[in-house]
Amino acid sequence: MIRITPGAVSKPLESLKVKTGDWGAEYPVIEEEKCIGCGECEIFCPDLCIELIEAGMEKKGEKEKIIRVAKVNYEYCKGCGTCSVVCPAEAIKMELKDIYRGELK
Ligand code: SF4
Ligand code: SF4
Repeated sequence: MIRITPGAVSKPLESLKVKTGDWGAEYPVIEEEKCIGCGECEIFCPDLCIELIEAGMEKKGEKEKIIRVAKVNYEYCKGCGTCSVVCPAEAIKMELKDIYRGELK
């Protein structure tokens, strides 16, 4: 018999111990030159494994602006593809992991 406790939640930071990066068959590849740093992928990633990192500075007239690009933490990415769907710049492509390529040939 399985006992289920309604409303149960795991302890804080518990999920950091479970690396889920090898779960999916695909992984997202970000083309940094296309990324406009909008943050949509970061917001919608269900595993919170995308963050925007600083990639340099851009001069706009008198002002300087920080250039940000998306970076995936592959240790936790489950390969769901949500980031690829929501990206308005089509900067994220899902690719098949190498270990599955041989199976499909
Ligand atoms: S594929 Fe899914 S889990 Fe991986 S970074 Fe994109 S949204 Fe997050
Ligand atoms: S949604 Fe696309 S353009 Fe926006 S930050 Fe993510 S990769 Fe970059």
